[in-house]
Amino acid sequence: MARSRLIAGNWKMHKTVGEAEALARGLVALGEPADQVLLCPPFTALARVGELLRGQPGFFRGAQNMHWEGAGAFTGEICPGMLAELGCAFVILGHSERRHIFRETDAEINRKVGAALGAGLAPVLCVGETQEEREAGRAQGVVGGQLRAGLAGAAAAEAARLVLAYEPVWAIGSGLAAGPGDAQGMAAFLRGELVQLWGREAADEVRILYGGSVTPDNIETFLAEGDVDGALVGGASLDAGNFGRMYRRK
Ligand code: PEP
Repeated sequence: MARSRLIAGNWKMHKTVGEAEALARGLVALGEPADQVLLCPPFTALARVGELLRGQPGFFRGAQNMHWEGAGAFTGEICPGMLAELGCAFVILGHSERRHIFRETDAEINRKVGAALGAGLAPVLCVGETQEEREAGRAQGVVGGQLRAGLAGAAAAEAARLVLAYEPVWAIGSGLAAGPGDAQGMAAFLRGELVQLWGREAADEVRILYGGSVTPDNIETFLAEGDVDGALVGGASLDAGNFGRMYRRK
């Protein structure tokens, strides 16, 4: 089954509502995307960006995180239903900044994956090794462990909704992107793990993105790889011209 390509922009803790509006307007002005485009603004700008994207084919919205509970005394948190109510289709889970700065565990991320699927959201589950883990020859072990823990309890029937993002920690925001061959190698490894978990047919439905210092100049090299179905882009997604070049590619 052909997987549709997905180019996702993680705006992180950038953009006021006014700035987010300007960025979304700039992207819409570039015309219909060649690929599916996912915009992940901060929570505060999700509604406004949604208004601007209404009726624009090819654009989707996602959040950058959420809590797994449906409601309750969790000050400062956002639940899956709140994101669904805003029309979000996706939610990034287990981003390395959540894992490393906020100490999110695989068990917590797993609960979030289950809650996202239960609320009709498509999880973008991020996995990736640190430089130290890579140098110790543990990259596949770490990434495979994050995958299995993150997906524990999820069913093969969810495969078409699931997105994985392979984001080596050392490549995020560093300007040092992985080589396309390395990205393909890890994407193929992840797909192999999915085959073991869910079987070949379901594994072939899961979209796997590469993330880590992707730019308009290097994105094609990743997209040329057979198991890489798109990109998760941080810094280079904050400017309409740059991000537009990544999904228009003309
Ligand atoms: C990210 O935050 O997911 C990311 C890949 O960032 P950057 O593109 O800036 O490396």
